[in-house]
Amino acid sequence: MRVLLAEDDTVLADGIIQALRQSGYVVDHAESGPDAEHLLSCTQYDTAILDLGLPDQDGLEVLKQVRAKKNSVPILILTARDTLEDRVQGLDLGADDYLTKPFKLQELEARIRALIRRKHFSTETEIKLGVMRFDPNGRRVYINQQPLELSSRETDVLELLLMNAGKVVSKAKFIEHLCGWQEELTTNAVEVYLSRVRRKLEPFGLSLRAIRGIGYILEVAPEP
Ligand code: CA
Repeated sequence: MRVLLAEDDTVLADGIIQALRQSGYVVDHAESGPDAEHLLSCTQYDTAILDLGLPDQDGLEVLKQVRAKKNSVPILILTARDTLEDRVQGLDLGADDYLTKPFKLQELEARIRALIRRKHFSTETEIKLGVMRFDPNGRRVYINQQPLELSSRETDVLELLLMNAGKVVSKAKFIEHLCGWQEELTTNAVEVYLSRVRRKLEPFGLSLRAIRGIGYILEVAPEP
């Protein structure tokens, strides 16, 4: 899952980035309002965390611009502005959640999980495909109740496939989902992760099919 953090307090930002990366998120960081607006307009994020007191452009202005462009990315406002009027204004301008500083990282992460769950999996707390069960909160995969070992990258790959159940996912989409702005990932590397996921799922009747020139689709394999 790819998250944008718009926060100009570098100490706070570093703490959040570290915690989110540890939980398996890909995180991009914007330190000013215009940067945040730019990144939001050219990348599909699963969630954005938006500070309001940002240099050059207030977070509320960023929020307004993003929603004016019909961008529906879930946005959580993270701010020291804690009056009732501030909260109401933020939510009315299109924020999905509002958390005031100081806050606990645990709560921020729980709120992010809830936003992402709502965006991709409606209200489901687990996703089932054939004998596989995926828990999007804990990012764990189970086959017939037994945990299946996947690396963090492999889990990212599977997560994206499940978010697009029944649809073909392009390689470009995998790259966008799997890496942030400062990283690079080749299509070859994506293929390596895909083939590892395929190898792990195939014995359990799940097929990861390549559709030439288009992308990949995860399905229950037809009965032999
Ligand atoms: Ca600030």
